[in-house]
Amino acid sequence: MNLEDQADRDAALTVPCPLPPLGCAQPAGARCVVAATGELLERAPAHVARLRDAGVVHAPLLTREIRGA
Ligand SMILES: [Zn+2]
Repeated sequence: MNLEDQADRDAALTVPCPLPPLGCAQPAGARCVVAATGELLERAPAHVARLRDAGVVHAPLLTREIRGA
């Protein structure tokens, strides 16, 4: 977790995560979870659709989300 990821996560928490399969349906303020296990999503700041909803956009995002899914 670097500072950029932390900033992205903070931004993502301002909006709810979309329903599956795009996201995990966590409400605003709650961290993303891995849908299959219910564990906190650790390899990415949040689901990519949630980050997009929060206005977070940068090139490496998609790659990180795929690794963390
Ligand atoms: Zn999510």
